[in-house]
Amino acid sequence: MITLASIGNLMAGPGIDLTFCRAQWSFSPDKVYISGKVLFNFKSTAEPISSIDFDLSNHLRVDKVMYHNTAVPFKHKANQLVITLPGSITAGVVDSIEIEYSGKPVASSFGSIGFDKTDRIAWTLSEPYGARDWWPCRQNLLDKIDSMDIYVTCPAAYKVAANGLLQGYTEAGDQHTAHYQVRHPINYYTVGLAVGQYDFTEGAAVMANGDRIGIVDYYYQSMNYNMKNSRHIANFLNFFSDYWCTYPFADEKYGQAFIKGTVSFESQTMSVMSQSDIGTMAHELAHQWFGNYVTCKGWQNVWINEAFATFAELLMIEKFYSDLTIGWKDYTINSALTAKRAIFAADTTNPSILFDVPTTYSKSAITLLMLRSEIGADAFQKGTRAILEKFGNGFATIDDARQCFEAAADTSLADFFNRWIHGIGYPIYKITSDQKGADNVTITIKQTTSHPSVKFYPLHVTVRLIGGDNEKDVRLYNTEPVQQFVVPVGFKIENVIFDPEREILCKWSYKR
Ligand SMILES: [Zn+2]
Repeated sequence: MITLASIGNLMAGPGIDLTFCRAQWSFSPDKVYISGKVLFNFKSTAEPISSIDFDLSNHLRVDKVMYHNTAVPFKHKANQLVITLPGSITAGVVDSIEIEYSGKPVASSFGSIGFDKTDRIAWTLSEPYGARDWWPCRQNLLDKIDSMDIYVTCPAAYKVAANGLLQGYTEAGDQHTAHYQVRHPINYYTVGLAVGQYDFTEGAAVMANGDRIGIVDYYYQSMNYNMKNSRHIANFLNFFSDYWCTYPFADEKYGQAFIKGTVSFESQTMSVMSQSDIGTMAHELAHQWFGNYVTCKGWQNVWINEAFATFAELLMIEKFYSDLTIGWKDYTINSALTAKRAIFAADTTNPSILFDVPTTYSKSAITLLMLRSEIGADAFQKGTRAILEKFGNGFATIDDARQCFEAAADTSLADFFNRWIHGIGYPIYKITSDQKGADNVTITIKQTTSHPSVKFYPLHVTVRLIGGDNEKDVRLYNTEPVQQFVVPVGFKIENVIFDPEREILCKWSYKR
């Protein structure tokens, strides 16, 4: 997700494995209303169970719960739906339950459900806790739904964008029903719909091995649709597939459905886009790898999703628009300097704190930039690929990612992660130079920090020495709060630029 800018998130507990979901929804922009019939196949993972709970907003009404063709009792309060089963289910045995519900949904989080009468579009955007606003699901990050069939019924004039592969529309009077198949594990919050008066384009990315990945775009009538930007998606798909691993949903598709929301979001295989710039497009596409294929294990680890998706903007810029690289780093570092909390999200209850831009996006991305600089681009890429390989279709913590980078770089990164992920703030450098004659210069680096949670950041730093027409970059390993380096230079130093490539989250000043 990309945010521009309260919740009681009691969540369905662990112990249940959802193996399949068949969701049949009626949803259209004509009315602020949703109704559905949602069937889950599930099993208990640990113990026999005699009840099963789902998250569902109190604004919606449960009409019926069917179990083995019989209506069963349930309680629906405090946004929890607890269904009592007539008997006990043995652990490991797959069973099935179907929930019928309807009502006028009320949005939460970042606008979990939206209706626009002007352009006649309606959409969902569930991250992080808004899925229950429009469908019964289990809002935890411990279990993905292994596969899904999605049916959406709406007036025949409208198109339906959803997850997975479109199987076709079935007509019935002035209504039609779209059927999508999802055959990859999917998180509760990345199930998503966009329905309405959409124009539609279809294309493909041709991959290095000749495979074609379908690319679809749904755009509404009044939008200033930047078709040129969308065409870059094929290049980005190829690039990320090459840099990380083949697009994880290659046999389904990648789509963008444009919405009139305030944020963009990575619904699996069908991002809902409030913005149409290339940075946002690359970001949401990158989430298909980090966010959807590998998902943060609990929202405390949201870094897994947002650090990599935000850093992917930089990867894309370095590859395709290298003259914008410094600008992106400047902007993102300046944003990260305003981060107030640690990246590891101790408080996950408030979505606007959990997804605050300076911390969860900017500083998280810059930690990856610094990590790449510390361990080298090859080890960094190897570590990133290892995360996908090891945790694809599942969940990963920040510690899991750290271990992948440690193995790739053959070094401990515990201190680096402790400082940057669990600490607050950044280093502040004061640089002085002292030169007698032109041969050598003594560079003194004094480092303090902006927050007491971290006393010192050991980092490799680059210092650019400038004198007349001469320029020389030296790489120094700053391991002490006050450290002197004698650098052979061969010309008279007039100025020093610290970290000229903007690889470090820091503030600095120079005095001769
Ligand atoms: Zn994001």
